[in-house]
Amino acid sequence: EEVASQIAAGEVVERPASVVKELIENALDAHARQIVVRVENAGRRAIEVADDGDGIPQSELALAVMRHATSKLQTAEDLFRIATLGFRGEALASIASVSHFSLVSRPAHQSVAARIRVDGGKIGTVEVVGAPVGTLVRVEDLFFNVPARLKFLKRDQTERQQIDALVTRYALAYPQVRFQLFHDGTPIFQTTGNGNRREVLAQLYDVEISRQMLEVEYEDEMVSVSGFTSPVGLTRSNRKEITFFVNGRWVQDTALSTALLQAYHTLLMVGRYPMAILFINLHPEEVDVNVHPTKAEVRFRNPDRVFSAVSRAVRRSLMISNP
Ligand code: ADP
Ligand code: MG
Repeated sequence: EEVASQIAAGEVVERPASVVKELIENALDAHARQIVVRVENAGRRAIEVADDGDGIPQSELALAVMRHATSKLQTAEDLFRIATLGFRGEALASIASVSHFSLVSRPAHQSVAARIRVDGGKIGTVEVVGAPVGTLVRVEDLFFNVPARLKFLKRDQTERQQIDALVTRYALAYPQVRFQLFHDGTPIFQTTGNGNRREVLAQLYDVEISRQMLEVEYEDEMVSVSGFTSPVGLTRSNRKEITFFVNGRWVQDTALSTALLQAYHTLLMVGRYPMAILFINLHPEEVDVNVHPTKAEVRFRNPDRVFSAVSRAVRRSLMISNP
């Protein structure tokens, strides 16, 4: 059972950045307005995510850290119209099975908070503690009991960059949420939560680049595409600066990048790629996010319509900037 849960954990939790992603998504699902991420030693020593969201009632704490426990789906049909980022009920259980884990939470209706600890999957007792409304998750010594995983971690700098890329992109996707990121106590990045995406963009890249980025704003009956894409004079030698969010979730999808590149067809030199961060929104029934445990892959019901919308949206922005 312990081995089985560690194997399952490996599908969700590959590295420190995957922990950060799951915890941020939980905070967003809980309607947080403020999310603070604290990382120690590139996430090897500790990862802490605090939010001011809905919290978890004391009576449900133990359930929240058990596998396949989710409060987000009520019926099987809900799986076809997923409106939350989480739905599998796997993340907390997986993370807690490969770390020293603690979660403190307080919903607004409780006058005190409660804490639960899990050590390498062993669930401890629930204690009453003092804490503000919201949830604080602390993950220490990730993979302490899975040496093989530990060995696959990259240099600290690489792990740190992955975390930074993740937090900054979620901050851009959710400009109305205030994000803060600390590494070893040093503030790295923060947003105001005032909803201004261009301001967040200036932090993600530098101010000069962010000024040059073109706004994308497109909508048809089925899909809306918004965000930023670079003018033809602003390119990179790889696709790493191309990011897509689908219904608020960061996805990795080469077909979407291909649709984006099509908009630049003949405009870019061989081996050059645009920078872009695009937010695609469509009815939940139009996408299947239940393809892979990390939810990083999606399947569209009408892929061609989505791809042509992306391509058209970007082409339009390029034309406006360079008629
Ligand atoms: P999922 O997000 O797929 O439901 P998780 O394992 O990530 O599964 O979380 C389990 C449950 O714990 C969630 O369904 C939710 O009820 C609760 N939960 C987790 N994190 C938070 C949080 N930051 N704020 C409020 N509730 C949370
Ligand atoms: Mg979750």
